[in-house]
Amino acid sequence: MKLGIAGLGHETITFWPGTTGLEAFKRDELRGRDVVETRRGTNTPIGGFVDVCESQGVEMLPVCAAFGGVTATVADEVFDYYVGEMKRGFAGGSLDGILLELHGAMVTESLQDTETHIVRGIREAVGYDIPIMAALDLHANLSPAILEEATMVFGYHSSPHLDRAETGRRAARAMLATAKGEIEPSTAIAKPGVVVPSVFSYTGAPPSSEIIGRVEEWMKRPGVLDASMFFSFAWADVHQLGMAAVALTDGDPDLAREVVDDLSGFAWERREALNGGGSLHALDEGVRRAIKRSRDARKPVVILDHADRTNDTTYVLRELMAQGAENAAFPLLWDPEAAEACAEAGVGATVDVEVGGSTGWRDGAPVRVRGRVLWAGEGRYLGSGPMTKGLPVDQGTTAILDVDGIWLQLVSRRIGITGGALLDEDPITQFGYKTQDFDIIVTKSKTHFRAVYAPISEEIIVVDAPGQCPADLSAFEYRNVPPGVYPITLT
Ligand SMILES: [Zn+2]
Repeated sequence: MKLGIAGLGHETITFWPGTTGLEAFKRDELRGRDVVETRRGTNTPIGGFVDVCESQGVEMLPVCAAFGGVTATVADEVFDYYVGEMKRGFAGGSLDGILLELHGAMVTESLQDTETHIVRGIREAVGYDIPIMAALDLHANLSPAILEEATMVFGYHSSPHLDRAETGRRAARAMLATAKGEIEPSTAIAKPGVVVPSVFSYTGAPPSSEIIGRVEEWMKRPGVLDASMFFSFAWADVHQLGMAAVALTDGDPDLAREVVDDLSGFAWERREALNGGGSLHALDEGVRRAIKRSRDARKPVVILDHADRTNDTTYVLRELMAQGAENAAFPLLWDPEAAEACAEAGVGATVDVEVGGSTGWRDGAPVRVRGRVLWAGEGRYLGSGPMTKGLPVDQGTTAILDVDGIWLQLVSRRIGITGGALLDEDPITQFGYKTQDFDIIVTKSKTHFRAVYAPISEEIIVVDAPGQCPADLSAFEYRNVPPGVYPITLT
């Protein structure tokens, strides 16, 4: 048994001006044997593929893996380059199947439904006789056409994405059973016509926990081999925008259809709750609430600035300063120039710098701050959080400032798979501080941080500040979304 392995992913915000070029993907790309060596034992879909293949004595043909972050529309050359690599790598490989790690929300200059075209491209090289299965992010916008190209797709069941490797294992186990002829895959896909801003996709609480609960109930049913609900990625103007339910059965198309129709109907009934149901706070009101609440709280109050995708928007920082917040931690603000200037000034120096707001699109513009340098140097460590455990983390040149009681950390690199948001305690604890010593902690994660911060915080206050990805989708003009998709073309 020999399986091909490759990965390509991006979470595309189509409203973001400009394009994301090849260099964003080449930065951390893996090629050939390095795909296996680097991902073995990690909480990634490829890590899960490797785990199952190695434990079952399956030979692997790894080709490439590249992930370009969460940014503007991807340049066509990225698709041509990596899909070309995969076609050349897999052709003539005498493969029994191919396992892919894709995201599901990648949009290129020419393709809205990029993942379908990635698999179609590979099919041009290897034909339709072998199974191709893909593990995808929960935040995917899938077109039904993907199941005409891929034998099956598997989505994470958790946001925070704690089950990335397990999703890879689910795909790899189904692949082996299919390649050995033990099962006859029969699939179905249904789209309820609902878009979910990512901040509401947290699977630890209703309504998302109920949806995943129902997926897992179905998976216990005899004959149902796998099922997933994809929650969509809201900031993409694509024809297939919205949630999707998929199911895999052993040769029973009617059962597969029953599963996805049930899940789709269940999501449709919860469409309002999946769009927040009124739980968001306006920026000024949310910050005021956090300051008030923190006065008699025993644990830190977390402010979630979920709309920031660049980790350099300054709306919340500005508001904290305006309202005189004290003992508030603001980790991981991306600003290489300011971080460098503070590092040059040195620990103990007082600096006067402009920080953040340099991306140029819905970023809040730079804020001038005056503060004392508490720490400066290279921010490198081995991750200890649930999503980064054992992985090297590099914040680049890092500086920590005390700005009138605001603990402000400036970084030069956007860390991690989510573009640099605070997911765990590392950006605070690795620098000698304790999360419990702060009254307020700001994060720009969407849901991932909850695994760590829900238990150690007093309250999580979600503010809908401006930024690239606000929950209020009426800020954007969608042209490609068909009628009947809640809340965009059906409110
Ligand atoms: Zn995701």
